[in-house]
Amino acid sequence: MPRDNFNKPVVEELARRVAFTCSNPDCRNQTVGPKTGPEGFVTTGEAAHITAAAPGGPRYDTALTAAERSAFNNGIWLCRNCAALIDRDVEGYPVDKLVQWKKTAETRALLGINKPPTIDAAASVPGRLNVLSARDALSRAGTAMTAIARSLEELDPRFRVTIAHDGSVPSFSIEPVDGPVNVSINLRDNAKTRQQMQRFYEYGERVTLDGKDITFHGTPLLDGLNGETRHVSIANPLNCHAVVKLSVASKKKNELEFLDQGSATLSSGNKGFSCDAQLFGGCLALSVTSDGQRFHVTATPTFERWVGRGIKVLPYFDQLRKIRDAARLGLQVDIVVEVEGQRLAAGHGKLPMTSLGYGLLDFAEEMRVILHQSPIDILMPKELDITADDIDRVHQLAGLRHISVGSTMTATVEPQTEHEVESLQNSLAVSRPTAMRLTQLLDIHAFGGLLSNKQIAVEISEVVMTTRRKNIKVGQSVPVKFRATRSSRVSYIVS
Ligand SMILES: [Zn+2]
Repeated sequence: MPRDNFNKPVVEELARRVAFTCSNPDCRNQTVGPKTGPEGFVTTGEAAHITAAAPGGPRYDTALTAAERSAFNNGIWLCRNCAALIDRDVEGYPVDKLVQWKKTAETRALLGINKPPTIDAAASVPGRLNVLSARDALSRAGTAMTAIARSLEELDPRFRVTIAHDGSVPSFSIEPVDGPVNVSINLRDNAKTRQQMQRFYEYGERVTLDGKDITFHGTPLLDGLNGETRHVSIANPLNCHAVVKLSVASKKKNELEFLDQGSATLSSGNKGFSCDAQLFGGCLALSVTSDGQRFHVTATPTFERWVGRGIKVLPYFDQLRKIRDAARLGLQVDIVVEVEGQRLAAGHGKLPMTSLGYGLLDFAEEMRVILHQSPIDILMPKELDITADDIDRVHQLAGLRHISVGSTMTATVEPQTEHEVESLQNSLAVSRPTAMRLTQLLDIHAFGGLLSNKQIAVEISEVVMTTRRKNIKVGQSVPVKFRATRSSRVSYIVS
C-alpha cells in the first residue's frame, strides 16, 4: 500500500503556520535552529498525519481520498517526541484533540506575529508628529487585533472576545456569550492570591494576578492563552449600569465641589459590593468597596493619558491636583454610587494617601511653574528618566516662587573690578529694593536631556541686599543676603 505523504509545500506550510513550534500545547518546543558552526540549520519537527497516511496506521480514516490524506488539513506540525507520542497512544490523542491543538497553535503564532507596535520609540523622541504616527500604527494594528479576536472566538464560540489597547499592551476581554460556562482555574497557592480570591467572593472585587500564577482548563480558548499573558484579571460584573460620582472639599472653604463621574462596573459578593470607575478621561482609577455601612475607596492616578502630551497642557492636571491635595491634607471626599439612576450607596471620608504616582504630579507641577512663561513645552515621555538631582534642581528653582515678605536667600557675590565693587557698595548704601536676575544653566537630564543646556533666568522683581560692606573687595567672594519685599514677584524664563 502506498503512503499518502505530504509534499514539500504542505510540510512547509504546516511548519510556518505555527512558527516552527510543536503544536502540542504542553510541549511547544521550538523545532528549528542553527547548526553549530557558522551556517546551516537543523529541523527537529515533523509534519505528522492527523489521520494515518496508510491503512492500519493510527486514526486511519477510510472515508478520505488519497489527496485529502496528503493535504494540509490532515497535517499537524509536531516535534519528533510528540509526533511519536500521538501515534503510540491513539486513544489519548483522538482526531478532534489534534485538530484543536493545530488551531490553538496557529492562533498563538498569530498572536506572536501581531504584537502591536509599542509607542516607546516614538514617544521618547520629542515632537507631536511622531506621536501621531504611533497612533496611526496602533489603529492599523487594530485591524490585525480584530482578526485575532475572531480566531480566538473560533476556538470556543461560547465566548465573546474583545481586544483593547491600553498604552502599548493589548488586553483581551473574554466573556461568556450566554450564561455561565464551566472553566476550572488552577491558582498558585500563596497568601496574596488567597487574599484576593477572598475579596472576590466577599465583595466581587476584581482579582488581578500575575499570568504565571494562574492556568485555565476546560476551554481551548483559554488553553491557548495560558502562559502567554502578563496579567490575568477575573471579574464578575453585574449586568447593570452604574455610575460613581466624586466630590471633594476645597482647600479654603469646606464646601464640596463636584469633580467628575464615571461609568462603573459593579460586582457583588456575599458581604457587599465593589465597583471600579475611570474618571477624568481615564487619568484616575477609582475603586469602591462597601459592605453597606462602610466605604473603602482608593483613587489611583494613571498617567498613560499624559504620555506624549505637553507638560503645560496635561489633561485633567488641575483635577488630579485636587485629588492629591485631598489625600495629602485629609480633606473630605464624597462618593455616590448610583445604579440605573437610583442611589445605591453614598459615603464620605478621607482618601488614603497612595504616594505612588503623586510624585510625578509634583514634578510636573513644578516644571509647569518653570515653563509657564517660556515658549518651550516638553512632551511627557513614556519612561520617565528623572534622577534625584533633577528633582532637587526643579524643586529649588520652583521653590523660589514661594519667596515671600521677609524670606531671605543667601548668594555669593564676587566683584571682578573696582567699578563692580563701587556699584555694589552704592546699592548696599542706599539699601533700596532692587530687581535681581539670576541666570544659570538648567541642566536637567529628565525627558531625554531636553532641558540640559537650557538657559534659565529667574527674575525677582524686588529684593533688599545686605552684607558687610567692608568685605567687598575685588576677587573676593562675599556672602550677600537677599530679602524679598511685599511686592516681590518671581518669574522664570527658559530659553
Ligand atoms: Zn512536542
